[in-house]
Amino acid sequence: MKVPFITKAEVEEIVKTYPTPFHIYDEKGIRENARKMNAAFSWNKGFKEYFAVKATPNPTILKILHEEGCGTDCSSLAELVMSEKCNIKGQDIMFSSNDTPAEEFKKAVELGAIINLDDITHIDFLKETAGIPKTICCRFNPGGIFTLGASGEAVQVMDNPGDAKYGMTEEQIIEAYKRLKELGAEEFGIHSFLASNTVTNEYYPALAAILFKLAVKIKEETGIALSFINLSGGVGIAYKPDQTGNDIMAIGEGVRKKFEEILVPAGMGDVKIFTELGRFMLAPYGHLVTKAIHEKHTYKEYIGVDACAANLMRPAMYGSYHHITVLGKEDAPLDHVYDVTGSLCENNDKFAIDRELPQIDKGDYLVIHDAGAHGFAMGYNYNGRLWSSELLKREDGSVIEIRRAETLEDYFATLDGFWDIQ
Ligand SMILES: *Cc1c(COP(=O)(O)O)cnc(C)c1O
Repeated sequence: MKVPFITKAEVEEIVKTYPTPFHIYDEKGIRENARKMNAAFSWNKGFKEYFAVKATPNPTILKILHEEGCGTDCSSLAELVMSEKCNIKGQDIMFSSNDTPAEEFKKAVELGAIINLDDITHIDFLKETAGIPKTICCRFNPGGIFTLGASGEAVQVMDNPGDAKYGMTEEQIIEAYKRLKELGAEEFGIHSFLASNTVTNEYYPALAAILFKLAVKIKEETGIALSFINLSGGVGIAYKPDQTGNDIMAIGEGVRKKFEEILVPAGMGDVKIFTELGRFMLAPYGHLVTKAIHEKHTYKEYIGVDACAANLMRPAMYGSYHHITVLGKEDAPLDHVYDVTGSLCENNDKFAIDRELPQIDKGDYLVIHDAGAHGFAMGYNYNGRLWSSELLKREDGSVIEIRRAETLEDYFATLDGFWDIQ
């Protein structure tokens, strides 16, 4: 059962000031989860979660996470600037970008961020554009197909690093560390991201084992002892109500076991573990709240809402499931089957297809769950749809606006003289 963190009465109060559709985040949930994350890895001195800014690029969210000890994982100039404005600087920033423009490396170096190089050719590019910093990270791609499942239960993790544009081969990465050392780098890390939205406690430990073994090999072949290992993103959440979510304590324990099996005997027990989670840190703590404005009965039953794929792209783009709760009808029987649609002139603009829901009446408020990461962030302006507001439910239950909704003025602002056109 997925229970919204806001009630119908609360939404009726909120819409007096902030009309639907809006994204709303739950500060209490965010903080509790961040604390659990840190507890799960508290066995590792120097552990740090660098929140993947692209998942939820809002300064208020970044500051809350920073207060809980998290840094930021940035991959663009805007994300670096947002970090800087939140006073998150230096080694509290991981810059994990790819196909990186020169000015972004310059900004990352200026901020003292840890730069995570996606390719061996970026060493010279970085040297020429911004200089090689003392601390540097390299991104690894083992190639092939990554699967899990040895533990018996059918584990739904599979991805295809061999097809992915990211990272360096093993040969390249070993060469890269040697070259970086020659160029004056002193502290080194490794990073890899092999699978996305994993719903299994086995992913991080399996990835950790791969990286820990490689770290030992790097030490043997180059004499370079890595000082941190970045497990990146990919720990997912249960979008469907019948799925069992990840147990972050078990994940932390699983990584600890590999650490003690592989790194400690190699004399590398002081390696710091870093993570770059986005989805796991925020997705469950954000709702897209929207109002039913139309119902339509043709070959199917449709409910039209005032949000659309421009507010939450995942169902249209990936066919992703996002659970829906009709506020005030939490206990009503699911005796209707609807397509829940937005207004875009695209037939994939559906938040749900053939979904069993209670009877929905015009004016009902719908909570679209798990929209806190890769939700608002992936918004766009197609069909002239404007960006919604972002709200925060604070720990005391009060609600504040943390980004106002876009206006037509904003939308036309880049067309010089637009309002003067006769
Ligand atoms: C997207 C991304 C993340 C976060 O991924 P999640 O699946 O949201 O945890 C972390 N690191 C990098 C480099 C990314 O591109």
